[in-house]
Amino acid sequence: MASGEVNIVWLQAGGCTGCSVSFLNAIHPSAPDLLIEQFLPGTHLSLSYHPTLMAGQGEGALQVFDQLPDGDFVLALEGSIPRKEHFCTIGEVNGREITVTEKFLDLADRASLMLGVGTCAAFGGIPAGCPNPGGYRAAGVVMEENGIETPLVHVPGCPPHPDWINTTILEYLSTGGDVALDPLGRPEIIYGQLIHENCQRRPYFDEGKFAEKPGDPECLHKVGCKGPITYADCPLREWNDGLNWCVKAGGPCQGCTQPEFIEEATPIYQELAEDRLPKIGEQAKVGGTDE
Ligand code: SF4
Ligand code: SF4
Repeated sequence: MASGEVNIVWLQAGGCTGCSVSFLNAIHPSAPDLLIEQFLPGTHLSLSYHPTLMAGQGEGALQVFDQLPDGDFVLALEGSIPRKEHFCTIGEVNGREITVTEKFLDLADRASLMLGVGTCAAFGGIPAGCPNPGGYRAAGVVMEENGIETPLVHVPGCPPHPDWINTTILEYLSTGGDVALDPLGRPEIIYGQLIHENCQRRPYFDEGKFAEKPGDPECLHKVGCKGPITYADCPLREWNDGLNWCVKAGGPCQGCTQPEFIEEATPIYQELAEDRLPKIGEQAKVGGTDE
């Protein structure tokens, strides 16, 4: 697949555009570098469609979809997919509304890779939280219901770190799809370890020294930290070019890369129940809140 120009189509469904903003905040490489420079000799990415970033508009912009080579483009979905009619209309053709659900089903079936960018696309996220008036669902749920078997990789986060998006795309393309995934379809290179394993405040947890409020220097377990059940490399990579991350800044990890986000991750400042803490030799309990 990775030769010449690799088309990426970025659809926005039920979401807040935060994943796109995060993608634009990439530094090494920056988004312009990623889209202009060759990532392998003779091969570069082409962002064929992005509703926020592209110059095209109206019916002409939607014609891009018809020109994509079947089986040879990457579909990146930001946001979750609504079941209800007339939610998330992306444009009109000959006066007919085109919904993101209709276009997603078409493109997901034709793509060589489906990326669920952000927790809304990967697991439903905030739009799928109660009361979910649009009937929002994760991309994988919609694909399974419609018999779509395109390889699916999840890059959750609310938003995902820009490096997580870039690393996943480049790893997938440069290895021909040989990317190790965890049981939730996330690249292990990014989501292979618990936040709690690498947290700088872990010695306080082990000694039972807990913050009474966000901003205190001790472990944030008692003010709702979800680090013990959350898989991501935030403590190692940090955000904003390695400057800081949630816990280091004094706020609890909210578990934004997990299927539990947002239903079971709230109230945000409520201590995790004892039975959700991993015991010695156990993996963290990972649930799901797709409905
Ligand atoms: S509970 Fe949170 S703040 Fe405490 S050590 Fe674990 S990840 Fe760090
Ligand atoms: S520390 Fe937790 S809430 Fe913050 S970005 Fe990382 S996974 Fe998300």
